Amino acid sequence: MWRVFADYHTHTRYSRVGGTIKENVLKAKEAGLEEVGIADHGPANWGHWGSTSLADFDRIIAESRSVEAELGGIKVLAGVEADIVSYDGTLDVLLEMQRKLDKVLAGFHITVKPRSLEEGVRFMAGRLLAPVSDRIYRKVRNENTKAIVEAIYNNEIDIITHPGLKISIDTYELAKACVKRGTALEINSKHGIKSVEFVKAAAREGACFVIGSDAHSPDRVGDLEPGLRAAQLAGLTADQILNVREE
Ligand SMILES: [Zn+2]
Ligand SMILES: [Zn+2]
Repeated sequence: MWRVFADYHTHTRYSRVGGTIKENVLKAKEAGLEEVGIADHGPANWGHWGSTSLADFDRIIAESRSVEAELGGIKVLAGVEADIVSYDGTLDVLLEMQRKLDKVLAGFHITVKPRSLEEGVRFMAGRLLAPVSDRIYRKVRNENTKAIVEAIYNNEIDIITHPGLKISIDTYELAKACVKRGTALEINSKHGIKSVEFVKAAAREGACFVIGSDAHSPDRVGDLEPGLRAAQLAGLTADQILNVREE
């Protein structure tokens, strides 16, 4: 029997969605989890009509520590879901803050202020034109793959969130970089996974995985069943998933 003991991908009010850190932790305890991660969006993400600030992450760290002490019986990890803001793999949360946080999650989001206008236009044009031309699709896929691989090498990312969601990435290159750097790939319960084939292919390269709820409200914290089912369909074993153990 598999047991998922942690949910590292939950959002709070700091991302302009959901509830408080305490509400997420209470729900995680109710769901029987041993660890819960607060992973609000990085400051470049405007997806919910407002952004976090870098100072918010200091607040998130302090609040996570105090909620953990107050409630007891569960580990509360202060983290981030950082954004890739440049083709050279720069994240919107730099190394100094990454090192202060307990978990660094990072992913591609479309609703992000790019580092430069030129890169923003290039990214949006690529997204619009990729479906109409095979040549452009391959070029865009190559550029996005390079950006995420650079991000993996130049940062201290623990988990790549929802790989492949809305952005096409070369699975082999992504998995290879993850294996070299000890970065896990997420199997996301909210967005589903790109495909079971994707998980199988990444696993063949030796990648490891984490199942995450991507909860945008406290009631979804610990909702890990869809991810778990996908992992089983892909034929993973418990030791390939960092937040699962066999009991
Ligand atoms: Zn995300
Ligand atoms: Zn998320």
